[in-house]
Amino acid sequence: MSEAPRGATIQSEEGPRALVPLLARALEKGTSDAVLLPLRTPGQDSYAFVLVKDPRLLRQADPLPPVQTVTGGRALSSLTRHGGGGVRILAVMRPCEARGAIELSKLGQVDLKDVTLITMDCPGTVPLQRFARGDLRPSAVGFADQDIRPICQVCDLSCAAVGDLHLGWGEGLAPILIPMDERGAEALLAMGLRAEGDTSEWRTTVSSRSQERRERREERLGQLRVASSGLDNLMVRLDSCINCHNCMRACPICYCRVCAFDIRRQERSANEVLDLAKARGSMRLPMDTLMFHLGRMNHMSLNCVSCGACEDACPAGVPIAQLFAMVSDRTQSAFKYRAGMDRQQRSPLITFLEKELEGEDGQRC
Ligand code: SF4
Ligand code: SF4
Ligand code: SF4
Repeated sequence: MSEAPRGATIQSEEGPRALVPLLARALEKGTSDAVLLPLRTPGQDSYAFVLVKDPRLLRQADPLPPVQTVTGGRALSSLTRHGGGGVRILAVMRPCEARGAIELSKLGQVDLKDVTLITMDCPGTVPLQRFARGDLRPSAVGFADQDIRPICQVCDLSCAAVGDLHLGWGEGLAPILIPMDERGAEALLAMGLRAEGDTSEWRTTVSSRSQERRERREERLGQLRVASSGLDNLMVRLDSCINCHNCMRACPICYCRVCAFDIRRQERSANEVLDLAKARGSMRLPMDTLMFHLGRMNHMSLNCVSCGACEDACPAGVPIAQLFAMVSDRTQSAFKYRAGMDRQQRSPLITFLEKELEGEDGQRC
């Protein structure tokens, strides 16, 4: 059994913001070229991922903003899709965003070679639209459970230490920076800290939080599965979809520059549609709503990291991230895969095996 990781306790009342002066110290030391993290926008009412070179600008940083706008994985992809160019980056993001970056690196869309991923225990975010209306403001430890997004309420990986360096924190828990690998240990040293502290209190807290969330996830997604079973019931869940494809554009995993569903929209002639209407009795228009969602699930449910960006981007209130979670939990479990959790495990989507999905009797599952 591998030894439990040790960490550096930070004497601070500021929770995740305790990270900011440490990032500035690492930048000043010159061991990293830049920090990628969320900053308050100039209008002070939103947040954006920004690549910071000047340590003084980090004063505007908020490592765990109350909302998720563009995800960290997508921001990192826009920076390193064509290679990182040797730029050494400290990239600070939530576990679901870092898992997105890891999936994208497996798909050749992010270059993690010179990136140190720094993750943190995440209290969840509130729905973007409610935040924009000014309905919700957080307390020191985040929002009330019922105010965070439904997908965050069932997130069992909110404290997943998938970064090279992970910040554990929470109510009654002093922030502790834990290196998860050599690169994380180097970053910690550059911050002037040593991993000498015991992490058992953090590990116990995380394990019970994850267990509680796992049970809630199974229960709620199980209920959604029953309510959405069969194409007709699934269509009921998608009833308010206006076919805008925002969910696809916000998704960090959906990275194709030109989407097949955008191209094929007008493919059928009026007579063909009439024939289909004759066969079925009627035809809902535009007719590709269900195909779009099923196609997207088919393309990327194995890589979905349940970040909820799609649901935040939906103007019609479709529970699209929950539907994806319902499907991807099953497809990923069939391949013994959990997206973004293991950098060494190849994505099943790009791995061809002669024998897979076979039961013990050799029959296909
Ligand atoms: S899904 Fe929500 S709770 Fe989970 S890591 Fe992402 S923002 Fe945090
Ligand atoms: S489908 Fe939704 S929840 Fe899944 S990765 Fe894409 S945006 Fe995130
Ligand atoms: S689910 Fe929402 S975001 Fe996606 S296409 Fe439908 S209306 Fe647009």
